[in-house]
Amino acid sequence: MRPPLDMSAFAELPGLLDELAGFGAEEGGGVTRLLYTESWRAAQLFLEERMRVAGLETRFDRAGNLYGRLLGADSAAPVVLTGSHVDTVRSGGRYDGSYGVVAGLMALAALKRTCGAPLRTLEVVSLCEEEGSRFPLAYWGSGNATGVYGFDDGEGIADADGITLAEAMRTAGFGLETQTPCLRRDIGAFVELHIEQGIVLERSGRQIGLVEAIVGQRRYAVTLTGASNHAGTTPMSMRADALAGAVEMLALLETRAKAAGDPLVATVGRLETMPGTPNVIPGEVRFTLDIRHDKELKLESFCRDTLAAFEAIARSRGLGFESRCWLATKPTQMDDGLTGLLERACLARANSSRRMVSGAGHDAQLFAAVCPAAMLFVPSRGGVSHSSDEYSTPEQLTEGAAVLADCLYELAYGQEWRR
Ligand SMILES: [Zn+2]
Repeated sequence: MRPPLDMSAFAELPGLLDELAGFGAEEGGGVTRLLYTESWRAAQLFLEERMRVAGLETRFDRAGNLYGRLLGADSAAPVVLTGSHVDTVRSGGRYDGSYGVVAGLMALAALKRTCGAPLRTLEVVSLCEEEGSRFPLAYWGSGNATGVYGFDDGEGIADADGITLAEAMRTAGFGLETQTPCLRRDIGAFVELHIEQGIVLERSGRQIGLVEAIVGQRRYAVTLTGASNHAGTTPMSMRADALAGAVEMLALLETRAKAAGDPLVATVGRLETMPGTPNVIPGEVRFTLDIRHDKELKLESFCRDTLAAFEAIARSRGLGFESRCWLATKPTQMDDGLTGLLERACLARANSSRRMVSGAGHDAQLFAAVCPAAMLFVPSRGGVSHSSDEYSTPEQLTEGAAVLADCLYELAYGQEWRR
């Protein structure tokens, strides 16, 4: 593979990211750009203008996803799509999502300038929503584009202020019957560039992460019921202490998760004790359980065996035990052929890379249901994300963009790649 562009094509990338971070910028350096808010809308319009200046044909769909198109000679061939999301978490960073959109935009602009029109149509997308930060739903953008979501799924959903998704969408100028439908049936490949949001690349000293799979997730709500009683008058042998039971479960969870090895991760992020008083034995404990793995069978068996072990602990302590699974997503494998292409692009640029599993969810997992999809990561300083401290160096950012551009070049201009 011979890289079609030199690194100077991406010199303006860090500056453009900084400019985009101005929409929703906060005093401490964070960015808050929630779906369909004024800052979100301004960011999308800014990107549209940048796409237009780069010579891309732009359009919004009904949900507010923004596309920039570079028409290919074979207009009937499936579209090669890249991009990520423009929304942020509250007080998030300036790279999560935005980086993949801006890098995709610059890659298409540079390819157009240097190589002219492609054989197959190339598009960049700024997806309207991924994080689930304003409304209790995530992947609204890629979900609508891939058909995982329909517009009906947004009905009855409201934000913390009681504003419905439909109302917010209208206010931002979307959701109209007359607007371009969201569902895409013409995508041949999707490639997403993202910051890692973890510490694996930095620790291993690699420049690019090649995502082989995105983990599946299970989330549970666990309730233990014991007996609240006087902390002074109830002998140790006569207690049903729900918190003592929970502590035994948490210790076992960590031991089991470490024994299972990477990429399994298990987390208890919230634990509440009732009544929560210093001189009363906790009669009830509720905790959350977040378990992730990239293999469905392993995830399934770990969850099943762990919950069975929890139940046994509860029984031995005379505690009531209840668990409810409220989120279950399947692991998603990325396309091997596309990942191989990214790997060759890294080799051609002498960038070090490693294959890895993404422990966080991404838009690419929705596209993987409808077309070959791939993801690449650049390092995040200290593994920090969803924070104003999120940072990747200009070099890391441009290196990732160059590898993305090489891959897009092979897909859209190359003779061999056909699906
Ligand atoms: Zn993201």
